[in-house]
Amino acid sequence: MSKDVATDTVRTWREQGLTAAVHLACPRCRAPGVFCSEDWILMDWPGCYVPPGDVRSGQSVGDRCPNCLAARGPNLLKRLGEIWRNRFT
Ligand SMILES: [Zn+2]
Repeated sequence: MSKDVATDTVRTWREQGLTAAVHLACPRCRAPGVFCSEDWILMDWPGCYVPPGDVRSGQSVGDRCPNCLAARGPNLLKRLGEIWRNRFT
């Protein structure tokens, strides 16, 4: 008499990737295209300032400049795509 034995194999790995994008400054007020918690941002472009620890820090400001409320065209965001990826086994 024989027994069927399951032989499932589980593999795990860690994979990391890096994508890049350039957020150009607002053409109207020159505010940066990302939110920032630096003091000099608060002085020059208070609409783009977020307190330290805010989850929006470093994130895109979106389709409208939060400092002067001008529309930000799609040409102000240049997605460079994935520039690096590696799988660690
Ligand atoms: Zn602006």
